Amino acid sequence: MLVIKCAACKTKLFRYLKIGKGEVLRCYNERIVKIYDLVQEGEDSKCPCGNIVGKNKPGYIQMRKGAFFYTGSKL
Ligand SMILES: [Zn+2]
Repeated sequence: MLVIKCAACKTKLFRYLKIGKGEVLRCYNERIVKIYDLVQEGEDSKCPCGNIVGKNKPGYIQMRKGAFFYTGSKL
């Protein structure tokens, strides 16, 4: 399980079940286990501080490199 955090202010955004060792490029909606402070507005997924961490696509969030980091481990 990963906790995705804002790279700008370190706010916890959401908890994500990552399968596989690859990079976190897409976060599939069905594996977002818990939303903390993620703001989804139109096509943007962002932190309350305004940092855009990804773009909302049908079924997943296309994550923006460098806009977020995570703690925890991949399955
Ligand atoms: Zn932030």
